[in-house]
Amino acid sequence: MAKNLTTRSEDYSKWYNELVIKADLAENSGVRGCMVIKPYGFAIWERMQAELDRMFKETGHQNAYFPLFIPKSYFSKEASHVDGFAKECAVVTHYRLKNDENGGIVVDEDAKLEEELIVRPTSETIIWDTYRKWIQSYRDLPLLINQWANVVRWEMRTRLFLRTAEFLWQEGHTAHATEKEALAEAEQMINVYADFAENFMAVPVIKGFKTESERFAGALETYCIEALMQDGKALQAGTSHFLGQNFAKAFDVKFATKEGKQEHVWATSWGVSTRLMGALIMTHSDDNGLVLPPNLAPDQVVIVPIYRSDEQFEAVSEVAKRLVTELRSKGVRVKFDNRDTHKPGWKFNEYELKGVPVRIAIGPKDVEKGTVEIARRDTLSKEFIDMSSVSEKVIALLDEIQTNLYTKASNFRKENITSVESYDEFKKVLEDKGGFISAHWDGTPETEERIKKETKATIRCIPLDAVEELGACVVTGKPSQKRVLFAKAY
Ligand code: AMP
Repeated sequence: MAKNLTTRSEDYSKWYNELVIKADLAENSGVRGCMVIKPYGFAIWERMQAELDRMFKETGHQNAYFPLFIPKSYFSKEASHVDGFAKECAVVTHYRLKNDENGGIVVDEDAKLEEELIVRPTSETIIWDTYRKWIQSYRDLPLLINQWANVVRWEMRTRLFLRTAEFLWQEGHTAHATEKEALAEAEQMINVYADFAENFMAVPVIKGFKTESERFAGALETYCIEALMQDGKALQAGTSHFLGQNFAKAFDVKFATKEGKQEHVWATSWGVSTRLMGALIMTHSDDNGLVLPPNLAPDQVVIVPIYRSDEQFEAVSEVAKRLVTELRSKGVRVKFDNRDTHKPGWKFNEYELKGVPVRIAIGPKDVEKGTVEIARRDTLSKEFIDMSSVSEKVIALLDEIQTNLYTKASNFRKENITSVESYDEFKKVLEDKGGFISAHWDGTPETEERIKKETKATIRCIPLDAVEELGACVVTGKPSQKRVLFAKAY
């Protein structure tokens, strides 16, 4: 298999698209803006899902499923929500087709829906309409539900994984008796996302609040995690919203308190999507292809046999199979690629492109000497080791690769957060270097909008751990209490 990837320095965006296709992760479909996730890409997404699902359950959440369609009238009940999503809604108007005179197929105008249905762009409305029936008393709270689903947002400019018209995600929707509890839940879930991104995906993230103009439509507060890609652009990797009582009021969801009073419920929602695949790719991968952190790799180790004759194949296979059994018994995901339809060189190339963390090659000489060749994808280094120490070595190596990828990404991010004191400096850093720019801002949407218009940089977040520091806004000179992070973003 020829790699022939465009390099990152030649054209980052082209490199990304080629990598997604050549590593067999996904491809464009016949439907505008919608992708086909291929088996290898889906296997990685399944690993993300499994771990997140475990973390959600550990924090007390249960999975459920709600309809794909939302009646238009539900949607209009929460004013800011409908405003935010109206421009990207797919709408179902009919439920039948018929043949026309020319043998073609047309929409049957007699089968017009009385009420149009929106293909869910997010499920707050249908879920809160349901919660009204589920919640009566304080005993029904908190209600902690997650849904794994697909959603549709009619995005005009799409990119594989990063921004698609249909995407896969999970959406948590919780209901609480008090404001304090709901805020704690929203914060807990952004912490879960950050923990997942850093410890599982090896992607360092900054936790923060969105500014008012970047908030989720219908939220009082949006928490986010922001990651930095290798080209210096930021990526919003997850969001958790404190929704106040907006949806409870719109859908009349009340509960009887312990004292017998009727009160509206407090809400949160939170989600991560297949965009995480984009974050994964653009954080770790190199000019040779995908680089996977071992926690996410469907195959952590691949064994490639090297042989000429059938006898050699037999001898090498015997060793390989023994290693497979040994490694599997220790919980390592390992594959023995014994296909005789492809040469070892082709296989080496393919596994490099697909980011398999560790490759073991075994040839007839190794069988004689009792050694194997072991290669790591992150550094591309190789060494010969004794057969008897393979599992010990592999387990240590997987750990080391996971840590190394995080450290590398974390150092890159450290080098690419720049504090600036003036608007000129801001523009220069953005132009020359990119990355996160830490700057004082006067807190107004007008200044935020002006910066966005003039530089294309947006406020990615107000970091949760931002320290109080009196300063002057880089644009207006007005007083500011703390620095916020700007960047150009995906
Ligand atoms: P939101 O409901 O807008 O807060 O988004 C929830 C999650 O979905 C966030 O992590 C977003 O980054 C992600 N997301 C939003 N729009 C898209 C899209 N068009 N394609 C893929 N992921 C998306």
